[in-house]
Amino acid sequence: MTTLFEPAFAKINLTLDVLGKRDDGYHELQTVMQTISLRDDIEIDVGTGKPWVLKCDKEGVPCDERNLAWKAAKVFSDVTGIDLGGIEIRITKRIPSEAGLGGGSADAAAVLRALNGHFGAPLSIGALAELGGQIGSDIPFCVIGGTCMCEGRGEKLRVLPKMPECVIVVCKPEFGVSTPELYRKIDSVAIPKHPDNRAMEAALLAGDLGKVAENVYNVFDPIVTEEHLEMNYIKSIMNSYGALTFQMTGSGSAIFAIMPDFEYAAVVCNMLRENYPGIFISMPV
Ligand code: ATP
Repeated sequence: MTTLFEPAFAKINLTLDVLGKRDDGYHELQTVMQTISLRDDIEIDVGTGKPWVLKCDKEGVPCDERNLAWKAAKVFSDVTGIDLGGIEIRITKRIPSEAGLGGGSADAAAVLRALNGHFGAPLSIGALAELGGQIGSDIPFCVIGGTCMCEGRGEKLRVLPKMPECVIVVCKPEFGVSTPELYRKIDSVAIPKHPDNRAMEAALLAGDLGKVAENVYNVFDPIVTEEHLEMNYIKSIMNSYGALTFQMTGSGSAIFAIMPDFEYAAVVCNMLRENYPGIFISMPV
């Protein structure tokens, strides 16, 4: 039996645009995604000789075939024809759920990377990302990581220049957001403002953090903020302590702030921690 260790990094959406609804019911997206250092840890015992087991230290996360990490191991085994000889997956969870931070997707991607590495890379990184797309739209990005422009349902990826070094504070309010309901809402209104993805790409190419911050925008942010005014409270604290920008990530409900330095990030955390225990300091990776 061998034990594999793999980090599962969260993502944020620096931009998120909805371009329209497709005939197949999915939405056409254009989003710049960024991996951050907030992470779950994945351990996999391969070749246990026993039925598959999945353990997670956080309540409420399914510990069976519904877990995206389990699905990833299954699809990897099916597609490569490799018999895993029994596995035990252990997940140490730090990424909050229903946050827009892609926690489940990150775990699945980590399993794909770990198994592919262990078995001598039977799949190229591109093929592995594509395989992840069979399980969830954000998994291809989580397999590749870094900074990417993601289009289609999120599965068409283009690697972008790395985000400039900075400190990112992530704050998860208690309430969750129903993603299908959010998409229904956005279908029923004219989107008043769209992110400028070209300007974001140019800012990344120039390595200009100020311009990156200027172009952070998520079309879902105003919709969720309108219904949950506490988002404004969190943002106002971030703003007071020098955030270059602040925005909801994905379909929420976590908000991230790009901070000029670690000291100010620590102050924001101290100010918010009492009411919002789901607060983290991280960096782009
Ligand atoms: P996203 O950013 O993709 O919208 P999310 O914020 O909704 O993700 P996830 O952590 O991906 O949060 O969890 C969404 C749901 O998926 C959970 O409520 C849980 O039931 C299920 N789930 C399946 N696998 C996992 C996993 N490995 N970790 C967490 N949740 C998982």
